[in-house]
Amino acid sequence: MSKISGVKGMNDILPGQVEVWQHVERTAREVFSRFGYGEVRTPTVEDTALFVRSVGEETDIVGKEMYTFEDKGGRSLSLRPEGTAPAARAYIEHSVLNQEPLTRWFYMGPMFRYERMKTGRYRQFHQIGAEAYGSKEPAQDVEIMDAVVQLLQKLGLTDVSLNVNSLGDEACRPAYQEKLVGHLRAHVDELCADCKVRLERNPLRVLDCKQERCQQIALAAPSILESLCEPCRAHFGDVQRKLGALGIKYEVNHRIMRGLDYYTRTTFEFIAAHPVLGTASTVGGGGRYDKLMKSLGGPDVPAVGVGIGLDRLCILLQEGGQRFSQPTQLFIAVADEGSADEALVLASRLRREGLRVELDTRGGSLKSQMKRADKVGATYTLVLGERERQSGEAQLKPMAGGDPRPVKLAELAQELRASGTPAA
Ligand code: ATP
Ligand code: MG
Repeated sequence: MSKISGVKGMNDILPGQVEVWQHVERTAREVFSRFGYGEVRTPTVEDTALFVRSVGEETDIVGKEMYTFEDKGGRSLSLRPEGTAPAARAYIEHSVLNQEPLTRWFYMGPMFRYERMKTGRYRQFHQIGAEAYGSKEPAQDVEIMDAVVQLLQKLGLTDVSLNVNSLGDEACRPAYQEKLVGHLRAHVDELCADCKVRLERNPLRVLDCKQERCQQIALAAPSILESLCEPCRAHFGDVQRKLGALGIKYEVNHRIMRGLDYYTRTTFEFIAAHPVLGTASTVGGGGRYDKLMKSLGGPDVPAVGVGIGLDRLCILLQEGGQRFSQPTQLFIAVADEGSADEALVLASRLRREGLRVELDTRGGSLKSQMKRADKVGATYTLVLGERERQSGEAQLKPMAGGDPRPVKLAELAQELRASGTPAA
């Protein structure tokens, strides 16, 4: 039989790797709940129109990368490429504004984009995201950035820099766009094929291009910050002042555009310095999107959000070489056939008491069982045979070396806990 492979760009996460993921997810849940964000879970599939209308038809995400299909009822559905639009859809659908004027949500889960794969860039990837609805104030922009800063700090990822920008609003962006188009037209021959199209349809997108030459042209482009209207300038100034008050280091970077169309005013990216990620070095990005809700047929509610690449965080943590798996605390080896049931009962009892215990259900020689104990990295082993059953006492052997010590089987759980093996 020929074997069937997984889908290109979509990864399996196996035990051994998954512990890093669980650690990041656990930490994110904890940090966002400290900030008052409640978890929202939306479906993986949405009406295609949701993304066309929110993310924008001319973006790479919708134009080229979306997994779109027709269901058996002839509806056009898409695997979600990002989490902000689905959350906004749910917010509108459940009339959340009527229940509370300020709402904070976070989510985590798989997203799908048909991208060219490399380290940190996959076709099924995972995001942790947060959205705050109902506050137009700079304090809300800063709060969400602070949550990410605290998450990164708690994970020990200190080599990540925060870049902030303002994209202005409908009052000042059109004039900037005109200036930008002027600059880009002067270099139109040097732009990549995609950017030539972007120049006509959505010129701001050129600033987000990953091609070397286009980035150089973007580098010389006029700064949007010089075109901000007074209210946008004041908002951005306040964001920076508040970041300063919190002691959060940041850089103003007028090229932070983001790959989605719905942003207004503040945008930001968290960029990792570690070379392992290459051009996939942005571990998170977000911004304010005050017009999105209304454009989706909802109430006129200002909002700000962030999306963090879970895959990329995990790559960085793995590079750090930290171990997250919890070792087996006790391996029980069975000395003779007659002790097998008692070993099973003993293991079951200890697990009920909260300890991580393993035995080799295949049986086999003591030697092969000890090999298994080594393989699973057990902290202690214990051999259970006729003698131990009779006396109710066994030798607890530390696998890292050192002398075995006698322990009463009835006091095993207490003993293991006292000896400092981490509890499950
Ligand atoms: P990039 O500039 O790296 O393409 P993006 O601007 O497309 O990112 P967003 O749509 O803002 O990214 O998504 C937020 C975060 O999700 C990114 O900062 C990144 O960490 C992660 N991410 C985006 N696309 C992928 C992908 N294909 N594979 C893995 N992570 C991704
Ligand atoms: Mg992208």
